[in-house]
Amino acid sequence: MKLLKNELETLKVLYFNRNATKSEISEQTRLSNFLVSTAVDSLLKKGLVEESGDIPSRRGRPSSKYRIKPDSGYFLGVSADINSIIIVLVDSLGRLLEEGEYSFEYESESRNIDGFIERLIGKIDDFMKANVSDIGRLRMIGMGIPGIVDTEKGIWLRGLRIPGVSNINIKELLQEKYGIEVIIEDVARTVTYYASTAGSGRGIDNFVIIHLGYGVGGGVFVNGEIYKGSHGFAGEIGHMIVEPDGYRCHCGNIGCLETVASVDGILHHLNDRKGEIIVSTMHSHDFHDKRFEKLDDVLEAAGNGDNLTRKVLFDIGLMIGDAVSNIILFFNPKAILITGPNSVLKDYIEGAIWQRVRNRVISEFLADFKLEFCNYSSDNESYGAALLARETYWRQEILKLS
Ligand SMILES: [Zn+2]
Repeated sequence: MKLLKNELETLKVLYFNRNATKSEISEQTRLSNFLVSTAVDSLLKKGLVEESGDIPSRRGRPSSKYRIKPDSGYFLGVSADINSIIIVLVDSLGRLLEEGEYSFEYESESRNIDGFIERLIGKIDDFMKANVSDIGRLRMIGMGIPGIVDTEKGIWLRGLRIPGVSNINIKELLQEKYGIEVIIEDVARTVTYYASTAGSGRGIDNFVIIHLGYGVGGGVFVNGEIYKGSHGFAGEIGHMIVEPDGYRCHCGNIGCLETVASVDGILHHLNDRKGEIIVSTMHSHDFHDKRFEKLDDVLEAAGNGDNLTRKVLFDIGLMIGDAVSNIILFFNPKAILITGPNSVLKDYIEGAIWQRVRNRVISEFLADFKLEFCNYSSDNESYGAALLARETYWRQEILKLS
């Protein structure tokens, strides 16, 4: 749809303010009341803007507020990992409308990366058929993937924990298939964007997020924006070495934070340390036969007060604390936010993280620093990807102004 300059100026105010009266638009755009009125009327006719209520005015007659029409455009957010694909649909106001979660086993179901991509596209197709009635109103797709991603070109350079990925131009592939623009981001960064706009990071100018899940990732938020680094890789906290005599990582190094604090890392440590003799009233005979296979097994054992499980989690907390200490010293953030599925282990790792931080970090750095465990939900990654697509779309529209 072709829009006039004054219409775009008006939309820009509505995007950044959520809603506004004509006189507020006039104030911010420096356009005359007449020009704003003409632009608003035209946007109303084009179905891009709607009235969103009245506010009392000093002269008695209430003035109408306007906002971007929620159904004027939709955005799709996708997150894909080794065991799940989650897809969400948001409207023009960034509200979550629909959500689909599909779990699968990479090894047994897709077997290789081509199978994985095929499966991913199949799920996006299914989701669109079920939830997007007017494909012409889908403005942009945002996608978060793990590994090393060239976000400028949308190339998936390495999958790390997803084997077989090598320089896949996933942006081009999806753009050709769906005929609209697609943005590709590191999944940890879509979580960071979610945190900064709709989650625990809202209103915090400088924070670092640590995502503890099947992988360990990070995002750096500086002065109100996500910091990307010179090649867009900034925030690879998962590959900081915290246990030099530990396990081999997908990246080739030994003892990365990911080998310690990811789901597999935690299970690996627990299963390998089962033989340790720790006096526990809860330590039953069948404990030695038990294998920890998923996060719930760990939570259950820790919740039942098993001392060995708690000791191993405490030690893992100390190593996360090493990484947290280094981040604080280097970056001096207002907050470090811990998110991802493993943040449910808060009760067993938070004390250890703080113990390390207090021992390692110069006290002045901690004056108003906070360590916060987020309320994580499995759609944070895909919701963040959709919100990022929404912002990218609007920024591009607004750039047309200059
Ligand atoms: Zn690594």
